[in-house]
Amino acid sequence: MSSKDIERCESELEDAENTARIGNFGKAAKKYLDVVEMCRKVEWNDEAAKAFFLSYLYPCNQDVKDRKDLLETGSLTNFFNNASTLPLMKVVAYMPGGLYGEFDTTRILTEAKGTLYMNAGLKAGSVEEAAKLLEKASECFLEIGGAPLFFSRYISCLKRRTTGNHAALECEGQIEYINGRGFVEVEPPKAVEYLMAAAKAFRAAKLREVWQEVNKIISGLRATRKCWMCGREVQGANHFNLVKADVGRYFEKILVDRKEDLRVIEGLLSIALCRPCYTSIYYEADRIAKMYYDMAMRAIAELAAEVRILAAEVRRLAAYAHSH
Ligand SMILES: [Zn+2]
Repeated sequence: MSSKDIERCESELEDAENTARIGNFGKAAKKYLDVVEMCRKVEWNDEAAKAFFLSYLYPCNQDVKDRKDLLETGSLTNFFNNASTLPLMKVVAYMPGGLYGEFDTTRILTEAKGTLYMNAGLKAGSVEEAAKLLEKASECFLEIGGAPLFFSRYISCLKRRTTGNHAALECEGQIEYINGRGFVEVEPPKAVEYLMAAAKAFRAAKLREVWQEVNKIISGLRATRKCWMCGREVQGANHFNLVKADVGRYFEKILVDRKEDLRVIEGLLSIALCRPCYTSIYYEADRIAKMYYDMAMRAIAELAAEVRILAAEVRRLAAYAHSH
């Protein structure tokens, strides 16, 4: 190696760093990638490794700057796949939000890994697969602990400034939520159990809106009614309908006098019907309406035909009168 090579290497590294400093991360990434070979040639293996790391990290920063989702562009996956092959080290870098300093590569890679696991978990096809991936994501985020995440705000599965601990809680909440979702239709009390745990985790994760949303689902699931028609007790707002009916004071009084379950009515103008009872009426009414519709259409067609015959007759008579 010659001193000229070393000098050139130094100046290229400086140039790449200056490009990153002014926030031109896409260009800086290319410059770092170009300088990797140069560093290896002069046996600056540490510098080569750092340049390689930055050449994959900075496209993520560029996406942040361009307000693109790192998961959509693939820059985060690309960064993780390439940079995790390197030995662990400390690297001086510019990070989103104007951060600049020396960072452990483990810290940045752990965040990327957690984020990729979380995203995959949320998109997983089965409950088991989702839970497994989100659990792994949660472990990564817990390793980061109370420190703020670098990229969370710019990533579609987190979308906010948050810490490792809060992101881990969010993953825990998602696991419970996904588990609970499977029971909503068939076993509402069990779904409620899971969703309660989810709500607790979301609340601790400082996701107020999600917490409220889950609570709404829980109160819907907890709602119980008794069907006016068949008398069955049903749980879950999706399992019954409140429909218009003339209940009136008389029938209300009957219920009260006989100490019957008042959940069969809703005020004086509606009753509760379980889904099978409700849909049987709905389908039957629909069938009858369709029958009358068809009858009416047939009658109209017959009338129209008659009108056509009469009109022809009128025209014929008019022509006759005209010619005589
Ligand atoms: Zn019923």
